Amino acid sequence: MAEQRDNALLLRAIPYSDSSLILHCFTQHHGRISLMSRGARRAKNLFRASLMPMYQLQIRWKEPRTGSMGTLLEVQRLNPLLPEKLMLAGQSLIARASSLFPDGVEQGFDELQHAFKTLAERDETSGLTAAIWGMLEQGGWVGDFEHCWHCSEKIDFSESMAWYQAHLLCLDCAQNRGIKLVAGCRKSLFGHLNQPMIKPSVEHIKVWNNMIEAVLSSHQISKR
Ligand SMILES: [Zn+2]
Repeated sequence: MAEQRDNALLLRAIPYSDSSLILHCFTQHHGRISLMSRGARRAKNLFRASLMPMYQLQIRWKEPRTGSMGTLLEVQRLNPLLPEKLMLAGQSLIARASSLFPDGVEQGFDELQHAFKTLAERDETSGLTAAIWGMLEQGGWVGDFEHCWHCSEKIDFSESMAWYQAHLLCLDCAQNRGIKLVAGCRKSLFGHLNQPMIKPSVEHIKVWNNMIEAVLSSHQISKR
């Protein structure tokens, strides 16, 4: 069977039998894959120390003869993608990425890597929110902050918009429906998404988190 090599991000490692692990990974060029790592839980196993989430990994694996689970042949741990103090926030980012980009989806690697970078450059709370929004934007679940998602008109940051049924709308399209998103809020969220130095208020971050919740609900994506 064919051997493959790729860059990978570890999503989950699930114990299997006495000594093995089943790994879920995003790969850069092969989409999301599952791999069996035989003996990986044994104390002297060479892979054990390398199989870490939030690190850039390089893996080599054998494709399965049947079914969808390959076999891990080699793993190298490269640079960490988050500082130690953000590891917990990183875990919730991984969980979110895992439900946004499930098995069989080609996307995930670039999106999660970008999300780690967004988080690493910001405060934990606002950074986590910005990182999740970034994944939603890259995955096509949300549009940008500069245009009405219905009529595509560019809306100046000095104007208000409306948030209605998980869509950002110009006031013409919204027709008094939804909640009003004042100019300052939209501007600060857009600013923070693109520039870590621009910090939104606690109130604006709360609005942003509610928007994320609404988007996940409307697409029936697990919120765990
Ligand atoms: Zn519109």
